[in-house]
Amino acid sequence: MSLQDRLVALRARIQRACDTADRDPASLELLPVSKKHPLSLIREAASLGFMRFGENYVQEGADKAEAAPDLAFVLLGPLQRNKAKPALQHFREIQSLDRPELAERLRHLAEELDVVCPVWIQVDLWDEATKLGGCTEAALPALIAALDGDARLPLRGLMAIPPPENEAAFAQLAELRERLQQELGHPLKLSMGMSDDLEVAIAAGTDQIRIGTAFFGERQY
Ligand SMILES: *Cc1c(COP(=O)(O)O)cnc(C)c1O
Repeated sequence: MSLQDRLVALRARIQRACDTADRDPASLELLPVSKKHPLSLIREAASLGFMRFGENYVQEGADKAEAAPDLAFVLLGPLQRNKAKPALQHFREIQSLDRPELAERLRHLAEELDVVCPVWIQVDLWDEATKLGGCTEAALPALIAALDGDARLPLRGLMAIPPPENEAAFAQLAELRERLQQELGHPLKLSMGMSDDLEVAIAAGTDQIRIGTAFFGERQY
């Protein structure tokens, strides 16, 4: 199947899910996740109108960003302290911020590099996906405090990878977003939903779905 064919099928799926949830598809961002796919395929996706791509690995994303400075790459994967600098240099957004030490390191580096990089907090409310990273609900206040409203790292939203088969998790995340918005007094976006669960995420009110396989096909490991 060509990329274009897969996109048509994906858009039809999104349309059906939005119809069911009584939502306008224009209210939803489709972020293609291009990890483990070559730049040539990303270029093809760009020719279909996409400018932003999610990547999981700092080195892989940095290489692609250097080769394609006209495109924007978003970091979705776990970020180690010692990769914080290349991450800030090459990614336009970081969605996997999950601990205060990392926030502090990023703030320090953002000032040094004189860059602004919007961040999303990755949350894990289920305490089982720890290998995927994510901040527990109890640890959220300390992380938000560590950001301290720094204008170089504006907080854009919450990102999560809810456990498969746990539909309640999506509603839990939507509630958490509501609560935090109230507390912080500014809007927060919600990024949840991947190839296998985009319908549940759309029904629960996500603002962004991150789609790898259903758009690019199987990853080439
Ligand atoms: C790989 C990945 C995706 C995309 O997964 P698919 O199931 O291929 O759609 C989305 N978000 C994150 C954080 C990922 O690591």
